[in-house]
Amino acid sequence: MRLSKLFAKTQREIPAEADTISHRLLLRGGMISQVATGVYTYQPLAWRSLRKIEQIIREEIDRAGGQEVSMPVLQPIELWQKSGRDQALGKTLFKLVDRRDHTLVLGPTHEEVVTDIVIHNIRSYRDLPVNIYQIQTKFRDEPRPRAGLIRGREFAMMDAYSFDRDQAGLDTSYQKMLSAYKAILARCGTEATIVEADSGAIGGKDSLEFMLLTDSGEDTIIICRKCGYAANAEKARFNKGGADNGRPLPLEEVSTPGMQSIEQVAGFLNVPAGQTLKAVFYVADGNFIFVVIRGDLPVNEIKLKNTLKANDLRMATEAEVLEKGIVPGSASPIGIKNVKVIADDSVEAGTNFIAGGNKPDTHVKNVNYPRDFKADVVTDIALARAGDTCPHCSTPFTAVRGIEVGHIFKLGTLYSEKLGAYYTDENGVSRIIVMGCYGIGLSRLLAAAIEQHHDDKGIIWPVPIAPYHVYLCALYREGTKVDETAEKLYADLQTAGIEVLFDDRKESPGVKFNDADLLGIPLRVTVSARTLEKESAEVKWRAEKEAQLLPLEDLVTVLKQMLAGKMRA
Ligand code: ATP
Ligand code: MG
Repeated sequence: MRLSKLFAKTQREIPAEADTISHRLLLRGGMISQVATGVYTYQPLAWRSLRKIEQIIREEIDRAGGQEVSMPVLQPIELWQKSGRDQALGKTLFKLVDRRDHTLVLGPTHEEVVTDIVIHNIRSYRDLPVNIYQIQTKFRDEPRPRAGLIRGREFAMMDAYSFDRDQAGLDTSYQKMLSAYKAILARCGTEATIVEADSGAIGGKDSLEFMLLTDSGEDTIIICRKCGYAANAEKARFNKGGADNGRPLPLEEVSTPGMQSIEQVAGFLNVPAGQTLKAVFYVADGNFIFVVIRGDLPVNEIKLKNTLKANDLRMATEAEVLEKGIVPGSASPIGIKNVKVIADDSVEAGTNFIAGGNKPDTHVKNVNYPRDFKADVVTDIALARAGDTCPHCSTPFTAVRGIEVGHIFKLGTLYSEKLGAYYTDENGVSRIIVMGCYGIGLSRLLAAAIEQHHDDKGIIWPVPIAPYHVYLCALYREGTKVDETAEKLYADLQTAGIEVLFDDRKESPGVKFNDADLLGIPLRVTVSARTLEKESAEVKWRAEKEAQLLPLEDLVTVLKQMLAGKMRA
């Protein structure tokens, strides 16, 4: 491809709101452009990379036994009503109404559709196991589209679904996909960290996320450097320790004038925050929820949402709190009536806590669970942070940021039950089909790869997903043979099957080198009057500082060898 003819050039001006590296570099490189919030055009260079990612994914999922299909983007709302996910996804579902007044959904994922297809195609144990996948555009009306391709409203995803006779079959299918995912990410030149993931309200099922670690990531990952435990903070378990403050003593009111927050109360009474109980108020699907947790621990809203099996969870407003007869700043779980109380298990593992007195400027000492108050549910709803300790080896955790590029999930029989997916076994007995689902975001992976591979000048594409492999840079000068040499080299490279982007523009060396660095093509090959004196070209890896002069004579062969060594990351 000649750069002079390439549609969509590098850009000097980019919108200020592009604040992540990959978003900025993709815009500056002329690789994407925004059409609407979270909706982008992939211009030629990004599209080439995306198709390479797609091909790597296709090869690996095929190798793992997947069969590629193409399911519809348009899906009847009835399928979503059957699974109950029309409510669970809420406004994230893009809906439209057809001319017959039927509501349709633009597919955000395909568990419902695929299960429905399986119901119509699978009868007997002989038809199982099966793994069906597709690579397709998905639609989600995200509450906060951000970071360009990382969180779009229209994005490319590979979604695979395995169907097995039983749990053991699912375990095998899941392991195959785990290996395939590792191979995909390694071949894309990216380094992924595999972490335990939240599995939503169904809980208890295995679920792993593939994270590319970068500060711009939205997810917080909790890592134990000693034993290797790694989990999304949404899910991470940790040692909470006890708060043993001696044997239970009688309740005692104390005056705490003006003291409202945990820090104020603990400071005023000269006790650690971990000796207090904190009350936090939520509204889950319209119902008021009173949460009690040890004062030094934050609430993990994902764990809470799962405990409540809620579709929608938000903090309660002050008005809603007052309406329940609760005194903010001195709220107490003692004597609370007609309100659902959820307690973190940290309240059980301690004695003689200080809690609110449910009177202004008053707290109560020596609160003991369950002696003094009752919770509807006691479970783990606390958020793990850096410094908390590992549940396996008690080493303090490190917290890092990451971008989720892939997710594998043992769904079990959730959708099979809701939609009715059964098979007949050897004895003619009808049995439920056991399901797994697996997703990789291609467009997000493209951006995340840039987050991992760049410097202050631009992108540094991993060879297997680079839009082109060679950036041929001709530094023209009157009266030299640069022009014809570069043209010949361009033709020879193409003949040899090397993907080459030819900077044939009449620009200064500075402009060309800057664009070469920005676009991040792995090998830069420069032909200039100076290199021609030695019948050579200057060859430089984008990822390295030093360039080398290589003879023109067998250059094409040498470049081919250099690239071959990097095709498999
Ligand atoms: P997130 O938690 O980031 O919203 P998710 O858990 O909802 O993602 P899944 O339903 O597991 O995502 O989708 C599978 C993959 O699709 C994700 O691992 C991610 O790579 C990609 N993906 C999900 N949402 C988006 C989006 N809005 N834009 C781009 N890629 C996405
Ligand atoms: Mg996910």
